[in-house]
Amino acid sequence: MSNDIFVLVEHHGGAISETTNELFGMARGLAEASGGAVVGCLLGSGASSLAEGLAADAVLSVQAPELAAFVPEAYAATLAALVAERDPRVLLIANTTVGMDVAGAVSGRTGRPLVAYCSAITVEGDTLVVTSQVYGGKLNAEVQTASGAIVSVVGGSAPAASGGSPTVETVAPPDLSGLRTTFVARVEAQSGDVDITGEEILVSVGRGIGGEDNIELAQELADALGATVSASRPVTDAGWLPKSRQVGKSGRKVKPKLYLACGISGAPEHLEGMSDAELIIAINTDEKAPIFDVAHYGATADLFDLLPALTDQVRAVST
Ligand SMILES: Cc1cc2nc3c(=O)[nH]c(=O)nc-3n(C[C@H](O)[C@H](O)[C@H](O)COP(=O)(O)OP(=O)(O)OC[C@H]3O[C@@H](n4cnc5c(N)ncnc54)[C@H](O)[C@@H]3O)c2cc1C
Repeated sequence: MSNDIFVLVEHHGGAISETTNELFGMARGLAEASGGAVVGCLLGSGASSLAEGLAADAVLSVQAPELAAFVPEAYAATLAALVAERDPRVLLIANTTVGMDVAGAVSGRTGRPLVAYCSAITVEGDTLVVTSQVYGGKLNAEVQTASGAIVSVVGGSAPAASGGSPTVETVAPPDLSGLRTTFVARVEAQSGDVDITGEEILVSVGRGIGGEDNIELAQELADALGATVSASRPVTDAGWLPKSRQVGKSGRKVKPKLYLACGISGAPEHLEGMSDAELIIAINTDEKAPIFDVAHYGATADLFDLLPALTDQVRAVST
């Protein structure tokens, strides 16, 4: 087995995803502990120029027409071939929609263990010690696994790293002729509403808001702040706000100057969409809610008390 730390490079429309850069940030410390190199796995078609600037020592570039768009089956077959041939100490994959599609498949194809929802990882001799979020982030499990594992990492677990100048090795793809799935089209979610990804202040509500009628409390504060109301998934699933307002893995990734999380527990799928906000303030009645782990400021309080009081204060200051 090599001591190298492999990272799956996720890219869309010619841009490297932020979570990939976080994986490189995490991989560097692991490579120092294992004595290996940080190696990016860049799959695509004519996309090898994306290697420039990755915070890796080397990039294995596999380019093929079948990899032009993300097809889980093609990605899994290619990654499994790379892992089988190069035998890395660990393969890091972001716990994103793409990562969740391929991590299990690579594990199945290679017979290597998969540890999902990782938030921290260390190398201790031949063992990998992984902190894994379970029960929607309410508990952390410490998992020990033999080297060679596949680890999927939740967003925001490490500072992003970029600006490297890795060597690029072109690797031939495996036989991808027998794929049973083909890429048809990429369909962007309809916005038809405000684009929350461009907003500087978001007042975001979760299930703790209790019902559609109470959204008004958040809207009043948002109006006073010149902000927009966004939401966690249960709120949009219930139809209390449109889908375009959803923050998280299956919603929008936002990076506002201020993210005010009201009655949101802080599940990994939600954090994936907002943990890069410059300032996070959380209001939650449960002092153990995981949202407080990422919040810069927090209030253990009932949002039905605090939101109207905050609105009054903001209005008083602005008049
Ligand atoms: C594949 C997949 C994709 C997903 N994508 C997303 C996504 O994009 N976005 C997303 O958000 N989730 C997503 N989820 C769901 C996610 O796992 C959580 O279920 C969801 O984020 C929980 O939303 P919540 O925090 O609003 O609700 P809950 O987890 O139910 O939390 C409600 C919180 O409100 C607090 N609360 C209750 N009453 C009050 C009050 N009066 N005042 C203050 N606090 C109060 C509670 O203490 C609790 O912490 C996804 C899940 C999967 C499996």
